[in-house]
Amino acid sequence: MREREPMTIVIDTVLPPCADDPTTFLDEYLQAPPPRSALTAADRRLVEAKRATAHRQCAGCPVFVDCLYRAVVEVDVAGYVACTTEAERRSIRRDLGIRVHDADDTAYGARRVGGGPVSHEVVLTVRHAYPKDTCQQLAERLGCSTSTVKRHLRKAREDVLVGGSEPDEHSDRPTIDAVLDAFDELSSSRVA
Ligand code: SF4
Repeated sequence: MREREPMTIVIDTVLPPCADDPTTFLDEYLQAPPPRSALTAADRRLVEAKRATAHRQCAGCPVFVDCLYRAVVEVDVAGYVACTTEAERRSIRRDLGIRVHDADDTAYGARRVGGGPVSHEVVLTVRHAYPKDTCQQLAERLGCSTSTVKRHLRKAREDVLVGGSEPDEHSDRPTIDAVLDAFDELSSSRVA
């Protein structure tokens, strides 16, 4: 009987940098950044350098967009993810007018269930009440960001174009473009 040739298994998978080199992402300074006022100038430079390294890795990651979208819209994960800290993802959610339920709301962990502090209906009601207001003025009245108002008004225009169809259960779910726009507003999005 012929002897079998030794088999070589080649795994042709590109791992995201955070899986390939988790130490960068598990760094305490990135997981739970201390307030800048608590750091010496040398520590600040160190934190910025660590952050720039992680930022570059995320920015070059093949699944960056999907990772950012999920971390902002679907799951409130901890630590540094997709070029953002937890505080920055909270800021993006505020900007988009969405929230993510606490992890213990579901057996699978956190999930986004739609509906935020400013609903589509409220934005349209205020628009109707103040038809001459700019988006910025409407945003000030509603206590949300201008981009949130623009997003809801754009959606209202699109609904008219498709015949005023009923919103589905995910109608408040932001688009990928809206999440990327809010991300671009972060000064840290230009780090590195
Ligand atoms: S973008 Fe997400 S998946 Fe990619 S390296 Fe960063 S944290 Fe990991």
